[in-house]
Amino acid sequence: MTTKTTEVQGVRPGWIDDVRLASWTRWVACVVSGGDGTLTATAPYDAQPTLPVPSVTPADVAEAAATARAAQPDWATLAFSDRAEVMLRFHDLLVERQDEVIDLIQWEMGKARFHAWQEVLQVGTIARHYARRGPTYLADKRVRGAIPGVTSVKEVRVPKQVVGIISPWNYPLYLGVGDVVPALLAGAAVISKADPQTPLTLLWARALMAEAGLPEHVWQVVTGPGAATGEAVIDNVDYIAFTGSTPTGRIVAQRAAGRLIGASLELGGKNPLIVRRDADLGQAARGTAMAAFANTGQMCVHIERVVVHEDVYDAFRQALVAETEGQVVGQVFDYSADVGSLASQAQLDKVTAHVTDAVSKGATVLTGGEPLPEVGPYAFAPTVLEGVTDEMDLCLGETFGPVVALYRADSDEEAVRIANQGEAGLSASVFSKNVREADMIARRIRAGAVNINDGAALAAGSIEAGMGGMGSSGLGRRHGADGIRRFTDAQTLAASRMGPIGPFTGQTVEKFVQLGNGQLKALRKLGAR
Ligand code: NAD
Repeated sequence: MTTKTTEVQGVRPGWIDDVRLASWTRWVACVVSGGDGTLTATAPYDAQPTLPVPSVTPADVAEAAATARAAQPDWATLAFSDRAEVMLRFHDLLVERQDEVIDLIQWEMGKARFHAWQEVLQVGTIARHYARRGPTYLADKRVRGAIPGVTSVKEVRVPKQVVGIISPWNYPLYLGVGDVVPALLAGAAVISKADPQTPLTLLWARALMAEAGLPEHVWQVVTGPGAATGEAVIDNVDYIAFTGSTPTGRIVAQRAAGRLIGASLELGGKNPLIVRRDADLGQAARGTAMAAFANTGQMCVHIERVVVHEDVYDAFRQALVAETEGQVVGQVFDYSADVGSLASQAQLDKVTAHVTDAVSKGATVLTGGEPLPEVGPYAFAPTVLEGVTDEMDLCLGETFGPVVALYRADSDEEAVRIANQGEAGLSASVFSKNVREADMIARRIRAGAVNINDGAALAAGSIEAGMGGMGSSGLGRRHGADGIRRFTDAQTLAASRMGPIGPFTGQTVEKFVQLGNGQLKALRKLGAR
């Protein structure tokens, strides 16, 4: 393993000054309190404070939601193409100014630059996709009316008025903005709660959206303590799109249920990767390393468990250890590191505790296994373990760090059984030269997405396909048709060309019943649906 430290360690990216900061914090919705003090995160590269943002109160959140609600009807009345124009301009500005936000993401969250760039790629793709495909996803749908010929019926999509979006720190741009774009395109107004670790990235995006021409009030951003601010958001919106941990997801679901509002919940995983006997072991090892250590292992769909056919176990293990030891770990504002820092002391403590617990109960560290203080305060070595058993915390508990454990299986059945252990069901992967057989295996894995011959990025980057969890990994889907339709309500519009449906004036009920029975029999004979 190679390690690198940044030349600018201890210093924020040079272009960020007070004027820039003010241009972002002006978007914090704190009209009532004027900012209840400030909130300052800790930068992972040097454990020094980043920059303060105003902290909002629940009253600020309620006011922000009311302002968004008042602005929503005008926004929804615009033609879809007018809203799409704003999103496409946002796309262009994002691509043009990507270096700014990539610096910010790295500074606030600590990931390697390539993974910060992937957030730009993902959000740009989402903006383009929904701006282009949105009209198809939201199109009116004609259906057969109650009385064919004289009634016409269609289902239309009505935007929610105010959508709440709560996102975590691990992808502050992708998860902060990726759901905002389809919500706004659907005609809803949005109130976003930034994660306290990464508010500047979201505020940067908010300022950019204003440059792209978004009307002032339709996207509100609140920054404040996680639970109080998040709960205030749920209390004031018509739908909540939550991304975060499974325990918080349960709290969010209960609060949303109390208000009878809809929710999508994108939660944690414990994602398995199966290496079949026929897999290309070089590809499988590279794919495993990419998927296990991406985002320093702080990615919801990253791989934490690798189930390997026993005939190729030793060869795969050797290849994976070599791949892992080839990772460049570093804190640099360029593309020369593969793996960055963990995001916080809390993350470092959790990852260290999982590895220490496993080792104390008999697991073997094949490589890595410890913090890298010579790289940075929260850096941790990419780690491969074997001999992990059920009583170890990291066996089925999400580690959310650059740590992967190897398991042996003597058949596809056994591999699927191990992959399906636990309650989580977010993402999975199968490596095999036989894509048809891998497809059959994938269908038996309880996960919202299964990649074949890729570790994680393929499904997540395929924006036209839904993304979400089974089991305790969540409810609902982002991306694809569901990713925008969830921000609307379905409304049925039914029209009659013969007045009210029922017996005509002067017609007896018996006659009407006879007509109805006649229609049932005729349609049955015709084989009509
Ligand atoms: P978290 O649940 O602690 O926090 C997520 C967000 O919820 C933060 O903005 C936080 O401030 C807010 N929050 C905290 N308490 C709240 C409450 N009571 N009500 C409303 N909001 C509240 O999650 P985290 O540890 O910051 O993020 C990592 C987790 O997120 C991991 O489990 C990861 O797997 C998961 N995740 C899932 C996806 C996905 O798409 N499925 C994507 C990224 C991360």
